[in-house]
Amino acid sequence: MTAPAAFGVDAGSTTCKVVAVNVAGELVASRLEATRPRLEEQAADLVRALAAELGLTTTPPVAATGYGRQLVRGAVRQVTEITCHARGAFRALGHGGTLVDIGGQDAKAIRIGAEGRPVDFAMNDKCAAGTGRFLEHTAARLGVAVVDLGARALAAPAEERISSTCTVFAESEIISLIGRGADLDAIIRGLHRSLVGRIVAMARTVGLTPPLILSGGVALNPGVQTMMAEATGLPVLLPPHPQLMGAYGAALLALEG
Ligand code: ADP
Repeated sequence: MTAPAAFGVDAGSTTCKVVAVNVAGELVASRLEATRPRLEEQAADLVRALAAELGLTTTPPVAATGYGRQLVRGAVRQVTEITCHARGAFRALGHGGTLVDIGGQDAKAIRIGAEGRPVDFAMNDKCAAGTGRFLEHTAARLGVAVVDLGARALAAPAEERISSTCTVFAESEIISLIGRGADLDAIIRGLHRSLVGRIVAMARTVGLTPPLILSGGVALNPGVQTMMAEATGLPVLLPPHPQLMGAYGAALLALEG
């Protein structure tokens, strides 16, 4: 492993991540934690902890992204998540496409052009439906772990239709479906269909240029991966460490100075 040359911090609304890259731009180490209320201290602690883990006596240049990017002390650059996810995914995969980043509280569709620059983007940060929060909220209501949702959706023998496009009303629908004795996995599958429908509608506004690339924590959900491919008819690709793409892109930009 060549020495770490730059750090990227993604201070997200749900998780806070830090990534180290070497001079060749390869991801060499990372840390990820649930976001705490004192984000400024948390980001500084994460940077310090990663530097210590790597045996560094001084911290390399840090670039910051995520909704809390202004709170990252000593950052040489603050860059939007759109630019960072696009740059990270382009470098990790070696090509562009339409990137969909689904995080804890927002979702973005980004058309990636030459050199990993975003050509067009659309964002939903106003409504929980169409974000990780939608699945987290409904998983809690169903008593199912978020990490198990996707596999259960794919294994479901049937699918319940969830017609509400709002998280709160979807919850009412779930309660009445449970009351009617509907199969839990069929409800979970319907919830995924609803989420994916919203995300694909947003992605279509920027144009679906294959392949479809997924990043953000929700990219790890196999149900979302499969249903995104079904809904668009496009191949779906994931970079390695999809949840770290924002922090990775930031680290690449810190490397450039
Ligand atoms: P942000 O950057 O907006 O803080 P992330 O990109 O870290 O958010 O995504 C957080 C979301 O990812 C949460 O809603 C969480 O439920 C989901 N998530 C994280 N890991 C997994 C997993 N292994 N399977 C399914 N969903 C996951």
